[in-house]
Amino acid sequence: MLYTNKIIKQSYLILCCVCFFSCQNNQQVSNNEPEKDKTFFENNLKQKTIYIQALGNVNQEYVNYIKKSVENFYGYNCVVKSKLNLTNDILTGSKRRYEAGKILKKYNSKENILLLTEKDIAHRKSNEFPEWGIFGLGYRPGTTCVISTFRLKKNISKATFLERLKKVALHEIGHNLGLEHCTNDKNCMMTSASGTIKQVDSEKIWFCKKCWNALK
Ligand SMILES: [Zn+2]
Ligand SMILES: [Zn+2]
Repeated sequence: MLYTNKIIKQSYLILCCVCFFSCQNNQQVSNNEPEKDKTFFENNLKQKTIYIQALGNVNQEYVNYIKKSVENFYGYNCVVKSKLNLTNDILTGSKRRYEAGKILKKYNSKENILLLTEKDIAHRKSNEFPEWGIFGLGYRPGTTCVISTFRLKKNISKATFLERLKKVALHEIGHNLGLEHCTNDKNCMMTSASGTIKQVDSEKIWFCKKCWNALK
């Protein structure tokens, strides 16, 4: 078992992919094929289901793309659930964004679930930055993560946007599966974005050996 209810209760939030300035014009698209660890897929995730669920209005193409990406990389059985409504109780203090921590808390469940929104999501970084815009947030370990398209799509091609979306989704699910941020290889998808989209763009659709081993 990768995680138990007991462990889930002890889960804590991992702040990921923090970024205020995600509008670099970067046309780079990775052509790297994922390095797959078949044994891990076959033994652990093939029989498991993860739900992909829109939070508010989300382009169906993005939902389908994430579904396909998660299936291809992890081997999960992915099921799209009907969308959830955005509600006022998950807004930040300023009410201009949605609070990622509140979203996770509200929708946390025993089932694996990836929430996807086109709205801006934020997390409290410090007193100075109480609403720090982020790409995604997930419990580590746990079952629930949320990602936002909002900071991924400024001034870039659609192909690059989708590539980013895929990486952020796979990164957050990696946290759910227990992975910490990787300092082993800059190309590894579990590397922290550390405030810049450039890191995400430089990663491969790939986990380094250390991260794969940590999953097993
Ligand atoms: Zn992270
Ligand atoms: Zn790694």
